[in-house]
Amino acid sequence: MEADGATPSARKPLNELFCSLPTTIFEVMSKLGGAAGTKRAAAPPRPRPRAPPPMSSARPAAPDPAPPPHTRAQGIPVDWASETLVTVGATEGLAAAFLGLLNPGDEVVMFDPMYDSYVSMARRAGAVIVPVRLALPDLSVPLEELAAAVGPHTKMIMLNSPHNPSGKVFSLPELEAIAELCIRHDVIALCDEVYEHLVFGGAKHISLRSLPGMAERAVRLGSAGKTFSFTAWKVSGARGGLHLHPPLPSTLGPSLEVKRRYLEGELTALGFGVLPAHGAYFLITDISKFLLPGEDDVGFAKRLTVEGGVTTIPVSGFYVGAAPPTHLVRFCYCKEDPKLQAAVERLRTYL
Ligand code: PMP
Repeated sequence: MEADGATPSARKPLNELFCSLPTTIFEVMSKLGGAAGTKRAAAPPRPRPRAPPPMSSARPAAPDPAPPPHTRAQGIPVDWASETLVTVGATEGLAAAFLGLLNPGDEVVMFDPMYDSYVSMARRAGAVIVPVRLALPDLSVPLEELAAAVGPHTKMIMLNSPHNPSGKVFSLPELEAIAELCIRHDVIALCDEVYEHLVFGGAKHISLRSLPGMAERAVRLGSAGKTFSFTAWKVSGARGGLHLHPPLPSTLGPSLEVKRRYLEGELTALGFGVLPAHGAYFLITDISKFLLPGEDDVGFAKRLTVEGGVTTIPVSGFYVGAAPPTHLVRFCYCKEDPKLQAAVERLRTYL
């Protein structure tokens, strides 16, 4: 017998239980949608379920004191019951955010290059992507271009920091500029922070939600798969509010930094130009030196896979804007050391 008197066979299916949560991220989203001037009517607030009757009717139970706000998540107070949603990977959180917050015709500003899933999801919502290209080689945010990209039709700015594919960690001045634009233009920020704990070399991840005025207009996504290094296990959290922040495996960041330093050193010695990276587990490299006449990043990546036995990702595939750079490939270094060493050995032999 369960505490609420239900027998196991009478248990509600999981999705029904989720639907009966007092409030969900979708309500947070509809509030955000209203705040950001959406045409979609905000869903009426769902009534909070009453507390179960006391087991003994002798004395009415005192009302529960309000739980203290959770502040472990990037120092931001969080009401887990009303501001969070556990999702099937950050992927489901992204899809829910794009589909729930964007109406057809809404503009969403995205930094180019970007994690490629955003493009199809935003387009599925009928949104118009307005790309703002990060400046090479340091991938800094072109602040004037960003300001020019945000206008009356902008509904959302998509921010991914630490960044895939580059490993860039957005700086505080960049985040402040983004926050200022969100507030000035009444725009929602969707913050993909799946690599939030993978930052190195003194870099600090700052959640955009922690900046003044942003908690109520930003949705942030975390990923247990990334945080606990079991990527492909789809367990994550969206938060107009919190995601799960159990204790972290403390060796992950440092061990990744060792791998990054190793690969960066070896690639540089081989003649790759390595772009700066302070987070996630990617390195973008300039392959100009190795390109055959007429060859681009896609041709190089294919040739290196087939002939050299090492696979990289052509970075042009991460751009949505016209005429992407075609002299960059991305290496991923979240591999066991012997694998990394074997890859370097293959590169040394082939190039
Ligand atoms: N965002 C970024 C930037 C990613 O790189 C990935 C995975 N490659 C995801 C989201 C998806 O995360 P999850 O595996 O939790 O769905």
